Amino acid sequence: ASTARPLHVVFFPLMSPGHMIPMVDMARLFALRGVRSSVVTTPGNAHSVRPAIDAAAALGHPLALHLIPFPDPSATGLAPACENLSDVPAAQFDNFVNALFLFQAPVAALLRDLRPDALLSDSLFTWTADLAADLGVPRLIFHGAGAFPQFVICNLLGHFPFLESFTMDGLPHPIRLYKDGLPELMDNFAFLQLLGEAEAKSYGVVVNTYREMEPAYVDYYKKHHPQGLRAWCVGPVSLCCRAAEEERAKRGGLPATEANRILSWLDGKPAGSVVYLCFGSLCRLGVAQLRAIAKGLEASGRAFLWVVRRDAEGGPEAEEKWMPDGFEERVRGRGLLVRGWAPQLAVLGHAAVGWFVTHCGWNSLQEAVCAGVPMLTWPLFHEQFINQELVVEVMGAGLRVWEGLRRCRSPEQTPELVSAEEVEVAVRKATGGGEDAEAVRRRAKEYGEAARKAVEEGGSTHEDVTNLIKELEAVRLQKAGQGDA
Ligand code: UDP
Repeated sequence: ASTARPLHVVFFPLMSPGHMIPMVDMARLFALRGVRSSVVTTPGNAHSVRPAIDAAAALGHPLALHLIPFPDPSATGLAPACENLSDVPAAQFDNFVNALFLFQAPVAALLRDLRPDALLSDSLFTWTADLAADLGVPRLIFHGAGAFPQFVICNLLGHFPFLESFTMDGLPHPIRLYKDGLPELMDNFAFLQLLGEAEAKSYGVVVNTYREMEPAYVDYYKKHHPQGLRAWCVGPVSLCCRAAEEERAKRGGLPATEANRILSWLDGKPAGSVVYLCFGSLCRLGVAQLRAIAKGLEASGRAFLWVVRRDAEGGPEAEEKWMPDGFEERVRGRGLLVRGWAPQLAVLGHAAVGWFVTHCGWNSLQEAVCAGVPMLTWPLFHEQFINQELVVEVMGAGLRVWEGLRRCRSPEQTPELVSAEEVEVAVRKATGGGEDAEAVRRRAKEYGEAARKAVEEGGSTHEDVTNLIKELEAVRLQKAGQGDA
């Protein structure tokens, strides 16, 4: 059998910005290395992938895009055109997860057609393990999170904690966690079992991280994966094939003019002077919380760029019940409010941005680290409380906005309120030039430099990607040999 044709990998991301963005970046990274990369998603998600597809084509390493219709609302109970998790009300998250099982037959048909050499699919598409086995090709898993959170979660699975808060044994760092701060998924034993079974049938795990960011945990995860799987670090993928700023802006459906407005505003600000606030693509804070943030930012006297999505009450965005009277006029010039979506990569890469108030979503965290921007941590749900411990306790690249646990069990619940005063104090502490904050800022810069080295030739990520591609090629060769026999 000829192996002259390039290796063909199919990428099948979960339809959520926090999973699609890194997976498409990964597909581009593989294409840059000569792999034929195909991305599978739904028609309603195509617009967010197309700019990356166009950019990759323009740069001479094209990606293929395959669209599979999202199952009918009559089968899913979701509203029509609800094809992305960021559009789904939290009460219907289970409907969304159940809808993912309905992709099995059309994806099987597509794979039979495409005959790829490997499948890289999101962990939630558990049935892809069997599809890959039927085709005789390796299935690689993408979880969306890093080595540290996965390591912690795996270690907790065997002995679920009964105490409200506890320190994890046997780690190189004294990590304190709250039982209620663990991912919601950990309560769903049936689903965890399904994930575990699919994982056991898979070939390996691909992680959007780089070794220098979390060395002890990357090494441990690679050596002691619970199902004995191999793991490769391919991150930070946003750096591996840094998309043009406009392109990323377009991925969020943002007109270039809006991206320009935001970036031009930053152009007018001194280096390191702006606090950037963004809580990811899924969360919807309550009216009272948004109002407290507004008051805290106003009282801090610092420059800020704040991305506000819909409020949790789900009212029309235009209503903005949360906004204190005259807020925008009073902070004009000093603060900029972005409604909906910011070109985050470009914002974090802008010299004016000094600190990032983040919900600790894994991608946001990676993007901040790449840009060398220190973080003010404000976790909300999923594995974000665990990520916070990595940033603050392990890396020393962030400060907490508040201590303890204030959790919303879902992206739409209102957590216990963080007061305006707490916001003000945290912002002042970070930007006040104190020794703690300066040390954190310095460390963030060092992590940024290490990230750049990791993706360069000879760097840890560069090597892992090379090894993974080599290994997939070896598997293909072996299969071809068996076919000849
Ligand atoms: N993002 C963005 N602009 C926004 C909000 C989010 O570009 O206004 C991007 C962000 O850069 C990141 C992704 O959306 O790549 C969010 O992923 P993350 O893991 O941080 O959080 P999630 O949205 O999954 O909670």
